[in-house]
Amino acid sequence: MKRVLITSINHETNTFSSDIGDFERWAVGGYCDTEEMIDYYRGGTSYASGMIKAADELGIELVPTLGIGCAGPLITAEVRDRVVGQYLKILKAEADRLDGLCLALHGAGAAEGTPDLEGYILRETRKTVGDEMPICVTLDLHGNITEEMAALADGLFGIKEYPHVDCVEAGYLAMSVLADLMDKKYEIETAVTKLPLFTNCCNACTFNMPMREFKEHVAAYKEENRLVDATYFHGFPYTDVDFAGASAVVVSRKGEGAKKHADILARYIWENRRKLDVELLLPDAAVDRALAIPGEGFVVINEASDNPGGGCPGDGTWLLTEFLKRDLPGTISDYILDPAIAKAAHEAGVGGKVSGMLGGHFDKIHGPSVPIEGFEVIALCDGKTVTKSPMGRGSALDFGPTALIRGGNVDIIVISRLCRQTMDDCLFDALGIDINDYRLIGVKSTAHYRAYFQPIAKACIPTNPAGIHTANYALLDYKNIKRPIYPLDEDAVF
Ligand SMILES: [Zn+2]
Repeated sequence: MKRVLITSINHETNTFSSDIGDFERWAVGGYCDTEEMIDYYRGGTSYASGMIKAADELGIELVPTLGIGCAGPLITAEVRDRVVGQYLKILKAEADRLDGLCLALHGAGAAEGTPDLEGYILRETRKTVGDEMPICVTLDLHGNITEEMAALADGLFGIKEYPHVDCVEAGYLAMSVLADLMDKKYEIETAVTKLPLFTNCCNACTFNMPMREFKEHVAAYKEENRLVDATYFHGFPYTDVDFAGASAVVVSRKGEGAKKHADILARYIWENRRKLDVELLLPDAAVDRALAIPGEGFVVINEASDNPGGGCPGDGTWLLTEFLKRDLPGTISDYILDPAIAKAAHEAGVGGKVSGMLGGHFDKIHGPSVPIEGFEVIALCDGKTVTKSPMGRGSALDFGPTALIRGGNVDIIVISRLCRQTMDDCLFDALGIDINDYRLIGVKSTAHYRAYFQPIAKACIPTNPAGIHTANYALLDYKNIKRPIYPLDEDAVF
């Protein structure tokens, strides 16, 4: 029986965040220790779930390490050493008895002194296991992929969907190919071609044009050329490192021209880059746009600039301020992080009143605190709920003590703990309210919310005021990215 070590060390690092990247901040999206790792992921919706599924089917013995993942600020050097150290400790103890490694990484991880977390993990891994041990790696399509990652791993397998509904498939493929490599059925090569391009995250949902066309093109090319895998990595524009940006990555059989194919796919993406341009609406324009849409039902406005799934504080108020100013019937904000207001609402009880300064506490980039006076407490819950979205369905969530408060016509869900971006209406259920009673819904997300909301909403409209996850990249104070890069620089060349 073959023995494979697996790990799931995921971090999407937003270097513009002024938060501290300590262990608790990283573990907010979930953490599992060695003993519980296999049970934690088996049957789930993540990369490691797909790896475990394939291993179970193929009769592979797994050596667990740990699982951790979220988007957040730059990881401290101490926490990098703690997390990667736990993985390396087990790797070193088991190295002589392993046949291969299957690693679920992200691609946009960065720590103090380590701008390329995945490159660092792979370098340290190779130092331990040598050059011959087969290593297959899954990566998030927001990974900023480097040539070094491709050189250190045998295969890099990216997801194809944004929202990320296909993590299991990527993990399954990585483990299946690893099994073939361990059995010496064939050899593979992986190549990356980088582009001077930021894929605009607000126009990158793969369910919609133009990205659906890009995704289908890459998939058809892969089939035609009988490639092992091919991925268009969108990259993550919020990690300010000199290799940030989009890339094409191809895994082929050895000698079948992975680099040539990656170049061809990169050229296709580059020539179509203008299709990715996005209209950048401020909240007032987004509300106007929503009101102009005829028919019954609700419109979702997503405040992409304060997406906790991209490392944001989740207490930004630009959209909320516009909602309160308009005071339109059937408006709800899902959500604002403010533990003090949530606590005050719980103390006041349903029917009671709360006053104070709501949101805007973490920084002033995402909007100032909003004074609220005598807002009524409509409903309360403990914030414990379960993901309904196809992305991560069934995973447990804990937003901490949560309240629904009302000011004029505007309802506001106030949470105490940042555990996930708005993916669905699970907090509506927990608070005993019905999404269909609303006309205008504000969410904290960029594209993941679309997996649940797009099929049921009249329209989905992004808004991009200032924030560390705004799609208006010109508002970000870049120091390290390589220029020129499109769309910041019209003169970027490839
Ligand atoms: Zn992602």
